[in-house]
Amino acid sequence: MTLQQLDDPAPETDLSELHGRTYRCIDECALCCLCQPELLPDEERAFRADPKLAAGISESHISPDVEGAAIELKGRHGACYFLSERRCTIYDRRTHYCRSFPLNVFVGWRVQVNVNLSCRGVGLPGEDLTILGERLAAGYGAERLSKEVASANDTFTQFVRNMREAGVAQSFTSARGTVELLEDDLTDPIGLSRTMTFAEHDNPRQNSSAGDLVRRVRRTDAEADISERALMDGVELFDLPDLSLLPVYVDQELGWRIFRLVGKEIVAYDLQEDGRTVETCRIDPPSIDLLPMNDGGRSAMREYLRTVNARDCFLGHGAYLCDLEGYEYNFAQAYLGAAANNMIDLWWRASLLARLAGMDDLGTREIREGVVFFDMDLLDLPTIGAFI
Ligand code: SF4
Ligand code: SF4
Repeated sequence: MTLQQLDDPAPETDLSELHGRTYRCIDECALCCLCQPELLPDEERAFRADPKLAAGISESHISPDVEGAAIELKGRHGACYFLSERRCTIYDRRTHYCRSFPLNVFVGWRVQVNVNLSCRGVGLPGEDLTILGERLAAGYGAERLSKEVASANDTFTQFVRNMREAGVAQSFTSARGTVELLEDDLTDPIGLSRTMTFAEHDNPRQNSSAGDLVRRVRRTDAEADISERALMDGVELFDLPDLSLLPVYVDQELGWRIFRLVGKEIVAYDLQEDGRTVETCRIDPPSIDLLPMNDGGRSAMREYLRTVNARDCFLGHGAYLCDLEGYEYNFAQAYLGAAANNMIDLWWRASLLARLAGMDDLGTREIREGVVFFDMDLLDLPTIGAFI
């Protein structure tokens, strides 16, 4: 151990997702002001002590998993109580969550900072996200981060023990390596179908190598109907009575769009700041087939898959699914199934947006729009480990 480590025993922090990326907040976008910010204990005390701020406190969060106080949403599913004409009225007192956006700090067996690709400001010339991420992680202090990592490590260690006992263990490195080797398959209908069938019906031995797993996937019959699954999952995504739980897409003109299943149709709405909705069109779900991707579209999808595969929270999601299924399947099946499912979801959402724009195929731009619609939800998937 070096002297510097003695002074600063901070756990390993992975900022690789941020490397080479810049960001500038876009005036009047305010997408992040639709995601009800939680109040940290210090913030809650400060908010309660100031009547102007206290008026915006909600005792509950739209997500049942989040306990404690948060900021109220206007009309229960509109924008933050403190947003007015797309401007924050308490900018200097905004919450830690608001200041951190579009960055998220995930704690698993190490600390990792992710960037929310639903934010349209990512990629614009501006601040260096690696520097912002470094500052954000350092702000928690080495002691807090070490404690959080120690606690998450216990969860991951227990998970590994459970996998081994059930005979379904797979190293995280080989699961990630398999997805890397299957990049082309996971962006192609036949490859996706094989991967889904492998995830649901195969029975690989534990601790298989990435090469063995890839061979097994490629030998699997493509039985899963990808278009049908995309349609079923897509319809289910919008079949929620509570508008606050629907995914929001911020379009290129910065309109907030939500989609909802009404009867047998998907209805598109413009969401207003106060929570009102204005219908813009109706879509027959079967008309949104998975549109063909051109080379640019496939390359953009592969690029996104690489980002997802490098996220510790996504590995944690695979672990969560493996646990949820009672360790009935090999971890590689849970992880590959999750990768395939999420690529299909992205593809379907990109197809929906492209159809609305009158397009018949998906290029780089259309897949990136799909990512803007999708990434917020991917980062919100249940996982082991935690965002802090
Ligand atoms: S989503 Fe990004 S660009 Fe939009 S307001 Fe938030 S930080 Fe700014
Ligand atoms: S406090 Fe301000 S920045 Fe934060 S969500 Fe509300 S309006 Fe947006």
